[in-house]
Amino acid sequence: MAEKREYYEVLGVPKGASEDEIKKAYRKVAKKYHPDLNPDDKEAEAKFKEAGEAYEVLSDPAKRQRYDQFGHAGVDPNFGVGGGGYGGAYGGGVDFGDFDIGDIFSSFFGGNPGGGRRANPNAPRQGADVETSVVIDFMEAAKGCKKQVSVGIVENCPDCGGSGAAKGTSPKTCPQCNGRGRVVTQQRTPFGVMQSENVCPQCRGAGRIVETPCRTCNGVGQVRRSQQIGINIPAGIDDGQYFTVRGMGNAGKNGGPSGNLRVAVHVRPHPFFERDEYDLLVDVPVTYAQAALGAEIEIPTLDGTETYRLKEGTQPGETIRLRGKGFPVPNRRGLVGDEIVRFTVEVPTHLTSAQKKKIRELDDAMNDKNHGAAKSFREKVKKAFGKS
Ligand SMILES: [Zn+2]
Ligand SMILES: [Zn+2]
Repeated sequence: MAEKREYYEVLGVPKGASEDEIKKAYRKVAKKYHPDLNPDDKEAEAKFKEAGEAYEVLSDPAKRQRYDQFGHAGVDPNFGVGGGGYGGAYGGGVDFGDFDIGDIFSSFFGGNPGGGRRANPNAPRQGADVETSVVIDFMEAAKGCKKQVSVGIVENCPDCGGSGAAKGTSPKTCPQCNGRGRVVTQQRTPFGVMQSENVCPQCRGAGRIVETPCRTCNGVGQVRRSQQIGINIPAGIDDGQYFTVRGMGNAGKNGGPSGNLRVAVHVRPHPFFERDEYDLLVDVPVTYAQAALGAEIEIPTLDGTETYRLKEGTQPGETIRLRGKGFPVPNRRGLVGDEIVRFTVEVPTHLTSAQKKKIRELDDAMNDKNHGAAKSFREKVKKAFGKS
């Protein structure tokens, strides 16, 4: 197992990078190595996964702090970080602060032999996590949705049950290493006897030897199959976020648990809605007359349109906040963002000469009270520059 790279290096950002820079850098890297764009490219897949891991830590202030202080150990479950509950019908943690990184990381650290400790080759091992991605509409993100994703998942071979041995036979304990998977060799050198431990050459570390391999899996014990998996995407999820479906990753070895399925969510932009965290943003243009006189107008929300009484004298850029009309925060029952409506006032264009005449007449009829802001600004300028 290669040395783990620095998360900052993975995303190509400096240590002091802002949240925004990290988000941008992550999107860039994730796009570049996305499995859909790099089919069957193991290296790209590893880089994609690595970036997801880095982003998961660096995008969370608490985890990032821990990481800055302790390095990878700060976010490694073997060091006692993690714990915390899981919620949600899909049994996964959404990355909103209480994400249990311990669960995600257990498959990288706990399940892997050779990461410092010498594991028994026949001990149960958790299967690897599987990454996939799904593209959903803006409204689907707001309301939650069900999607089918197609993923290549490693399963225990149905014909040999994972043993790798042909039907009616079973694997034998390796005679060279007695099932340890490793052998000790001694070498006499001018400096004394050098002892080294290596992977057993006969069983290549498995500890067992399959004499008659299963034909379905060629003795490997596992097969990769494309599977359709139904996933429930929680309402409120944002573009670039991940969620985890536990136990839907690759099958474990020697009876170990399956890995998790990690789903990256991409959200298509909406024609007029935008979002800021859990708030919904929309710009509503009104006419000059509506802004001046007040009017009954329609405001779009996530649930359709709503009638709103625009007040007399509404100024361009004025905003209103509709409480609880934003995005729900997944796994936080009752926590919902707001909708922020900003009114833009459309100044009329393409005026006919008759229309222009009327506007001039109207303007002439206006006094300083009608244009209070313009008047007070003129006065401030006069005061600042001392001119009359
Ligand atoms: Zn098999
Ligand atoms: Zn052996």
